[in-house]
Formats: sequence, C-alpha cells, structure tokens
Amino acid sequence: MNTFSYIINGVDKTSEELNEVFNPATGELIGKYYVSTIDDVEEAIASAKKQQKSWAKLNQEERDQYILNVATAITENKSYLAEWITKEQGKPLNGPGSNFEMEACIGWTQVPASLNLTDEVVFEDETRKDVLKRLPIGVVAAITPWNWPLMIAIWQIIPSLKMGNTVVIKPSEYTTIASLELFRIINEVLPAGVLNVVTGDGKIGGHLTAHRDISKIMFTGSIATGRRIIEASMNNMARLTLECGGNDAGIVLPKTDFNAIAEGIFWGSFLNMGQTCAALKRLYVHEDDLDQAVEALTNLTQNFKMGNGLMEDVVLGPIQNKMQYDKVLALIETTKANPKAKVVVPNPTIPESGYFIPITYITGVDNGDPIVDEEQFGTVLPIITYKTMEEAIEKANGLPVGLGASVWGNDEKLVEEVAHQLEAGSVWINQHGAIHPFVPFGGVKQSGYGVEFGIEGLKAVTVPKIISYKK
Ligand code: NAD
Repeated sequence: MNTFSYIINGVDKTSEELNEVFNPATGELIGKYYVSTIDDVEEAIASAKKQQKSWAKLNQEERDQYILNVATAITENKSYLAEWITKEQGKPLNGPGSNFEMEACIGWTQVPASLNLTDEVVFEDETRKDVLKRLPIGVVAAITPWNWPLMIAIWQIIPSLKMGNTVVIKPSEYTTIASLELFRIINEVLPAGVLNVVTGDGKIGGHLTAHRDISKIMFTGSIATGRRIIEASMNNMARLTLECGGNDAGIVLPKTDFNAIAEGIFWGSFLNMGQTCAALKRLYVHEDDLDQAVEALTNLTQNFKMGNGLMEDVVLGPIQNKMQYDKVLALIETTKANPKAKVVVPNPTIPESGYFIPITYITGVDNGDPIVDEEQFGTVLPIITYKTMEEAIEKANGLPVGLGASVWGNDEKLVEEVAHQLEAGSVWINQHGAIHPFVPFGGVKQSGYGVEFGIEGLKAVTVPKIISYKK
C-alpha cells in the first residue's frame, strides 16, 4: 500500500496524520496520503514567496519552455495518472473519462505556452504615450475540487506560472492522491519552490487563502466555499478568480429532432456522471415534444455501461463520494414523493457495491422543485416542459447562477435570439459544456468572478501597470 507525500520547496514532506483513500466504485482501500499542518502552509507560502522573484525574472520564452517540459512530462505519464484518477475519482478510463481528462491536461498546458500577452499602448498623442504592462501578481493560492481534479489544477497552475507567479496548491481532500502524483511529476521539471503543495480540508485551505503573503486566489468549488474565500480575501486583499457552481439550463426549440441531439444532450448532462460544473442540469422542452425527448434519451441510455471504470467497456462510473451520493439519492427520494413527478430509469442495473446511481430522467417537475433548483451534481436530468419561448427563457434564467447554458435546434435566427437572452457566461449551440483552452470561460451571477483560459485567463493572473511617457 503506497503512502503519498506533499511537496514544499521541491522536497517530499510527511506529517503525523494520514488519510485513507477508498475507490468509490469498489470500496477498496487504494492508498494513504499525509495531511499537511498549519506550519506546512506557512512553509509552503514562504517557499513560493522566496522563489517568486527569480521565477519572474526569467523571460517569457524561458518560462514557456518550462511549461512545455511540463506538457512532455504529463504526456509521458498520462496513462499512469489516468489510472489514478479512475481509482480515486471514479470516472472511467474510457468514454469522456480519465484518458480524456489527461488529454485535456496536456492541451491546457500547451496552449498557454503558445499565447503571447504583450505590452499595449493604451493612449498616445503629441504630449504623451501610455503603455500597459502586465506584471506577475506574486504568490497564487490554488484550491481545487474533486470532480476534474487534475484538469482544474492545470487550469490554475499553468497560467499562474506562465505569467511569473509561484503557486501553493491545495487539492480536494477527496482526490488528493491523483493530484499529488501529478504535482510530483510537474515538480520534477520545475525549479524547486515554484509549485508547492499542501494537503487537507477547508482548515488548511482557509489558512492558505487568508494568508497575508497571498496576492491571488484561484478557486474552483462550491458557492458556499466561494463565499468563505471572499471572506478570507478580506485579510490580504487578494485578487480572486472564483469558478463556483452552476445549474446549467438547455433549451430545445420546438419540433427539434431528438434522435439527432440525444447524444449531445446525454454527454452534456452525464459527463463525469453529472459531476461537472458546466453539465446540463435542467432540460427545457416544448410540451408537445416531451414524449419524443424521453423516448430518444431512454433508447440512447441503454447503450452505455455503468461500472468499475477500470474495465474497458465501462463509460459511466460511480458518484465520487458518500456525501454527494447521499445528496443525489435524497433529491430523488424527495422527487418521488411529489405526485406529479415521473421518474424514468432506463437502465437500472448497477454494480452491487460502490456509489452508483443509474441514469435517471425526471418529468412532471418544474422550477421551484428541489431537483430543478439545487445543483444536484449527479446522474439525474429533470426534463421540464414549456409552452412559449418566453416561458422557457424565463425559467432558464430563473436561478441565481449562470455558468453555462445551451440552445438546441435548427432555426438559426431563433437559436441566436434565445442565446442572446440567456444569462450565462457561455452559451453553447447544439452542444453543451464545449470548453476550449483558447476560449474564455467563467460564470455570471453567483457562479463566480472572472474568467479562465485564453488571453483573458492570462490577464487574470497579472496586475496591470502603466508606464506613462511625457513627450
Ligand atoms: P467544495 O467547495 O466543497 O471544495 C472545493 C475546495 O475548497 C476543496 O479543496 C476544499 O477542501 C476547499 N475548501 C473547503 N472549505 C474551504 C475554506 N473555508 N477555505 C478554503 N478552501 C476550502 O467543492 P467540491 O464539492 O469539491 O466541488 C464541487 C463544486 O465545485 C460544485 O459546486 C461545482 O459546480 C464546482 N465546480 C465549479 C467549476 C467551475 O469551473 N465553475 C468547475 C468544477 C467544479
């Protein structure tokens, strides 16, 4: 049984406390990791602070070369890391699972290395010239969730390092081992102290984010923790990028052929068993189209096997942890008590052990019902009917979150009109959750502040500085 260490200033560190990790598909003990102490957080921040000036002094090409070396190291270890994701997080190796997550890690490492954030002349006349430069912020505190643990860590680490910051990262306590293995591999090709790692829960995360030497917090997780991060940043006035929860709506235009869109809807919803921030979590269909929608999705669901994700033919895995499993089951039970609700489970066969919940469609529910209003983050898709487009848009916009949304149909003019009216950071047409490393991504309303990816994502890990010349 392996035991995994965290890393401060390039050195493996251990502590008195160990956490055991179990495979959510089998219940089997798969490893243990050392839990960091508050003193370790102090040491990790001191190490990042000490290294930051010399890291920032490297020119952009030198830092980009380090990042490309990181991409190579990840590529060489991608199968090994994918297996750890599957054993610890649960998503299958195949389908849009752990191998897919590793390819995303590689892409999201290579793309920032290829981007160029140059100085900008923001004003010039006969009297003056003003140049906007983008400087490193300092030490970045990075906090990740358990759903896409390696990909999201890469989203936070790579732009931060590229722009001359150093990082202290705390992975989710639920997916620490796969994260530690990724960080070990990255550390092997970086100077010591550039990427420091601490482990533990909200206590460690709270100390890290509130620390006076932290200048930027990159956080991905729930809205509740996002609020705690805002509180923590009152201590250090750290700049924030908050990627919080969502409850994405998809609107299918009337008379759309569901057989043509069912697969896009299925994976838009059930990518990583619905445990995806920008998963399609509420589907709005015209009342005349409901039967066709349920039939097309039911037929399609039969094609996908749920089980232990290490098996080759499995493309759907378990819910990641007991807390989340209980939450989704409780929402299903509450829905069953609603006499209007109809629960459709096309493929009820699931493994006997593990946190499995079969793919479930629910009709007869509406905005205001907990299964619709709460971010259920699981294998359930409520299908809600509408009579008019206005009603569909009002319901889609009716929640205090706005990460993604989608519109499905062939009437280009109507698709466009609806897309413009949806309150979300990204609106996808005839697809859902189609994020890309060149394309900025972030939420509106309580889904968060700021954006990641592309040039905008690089700007978010810098501070602007004006050099103003008198002519
Ligand atoms: P969570 O908020 O419970 O935990 C996220 C991280 O915050 C963990 O590392 C946790 O240890 C840490 N944490 C907890 N309390 C803290 C505190 N007081 N101070 C600092 N850190 C603290 O979220 P989760 O359950 O791991 O992840 C699921 C949530 O993440 C969902 O709401 C999902 O929508 C969201 N999410 C958002 C995006 C996005 O890009 N917008 C992406 C993935 C997940």
